[in-house]
Amino acid sequence: MKAEEKKKLKEIIVSRIQETKGEIKELKELVKPIPLDASIGRVSRMDAINNRSINESALREKEQELKKLKRALENSEKENFGICTRCGNEIPFGRLEYMPHTTRCVNCVG
Ligand SMILES: [Zn+2]
Repeated sequence: MKAEEKKKLKEIIVSRIQETKGEIKELKELVKPIPLDASIGRVSRMDAINNRSINESALREKEQELKKLKRALENSEKENFGICTRCGNEIPFGRLEYMPHTTRCVNCVG
């Protein structure tokens, strides 16, 4: 990987980390326990519970993503950054740009 590509990727990772942190903060607000308040009514309460479980899984996903992004930032200093951990080929820059936390090329995912 070229030095300038690496630099660009690091910038992307740093801004994604900031973004993801912001999203996690918002989601944490949304998954706070729903108060047992009779005034919201049964239907809205059901809605609130449904939304909450959606937000909870979104929160878990974001937290995973944040972990991966932080790891990617650490790994970006290493020699093998941008190399697929499975087949050893270089991961195309466009893919890393789109999902910088990935450690596998498109052929080795899944
Ligand atoms: Zn691969």
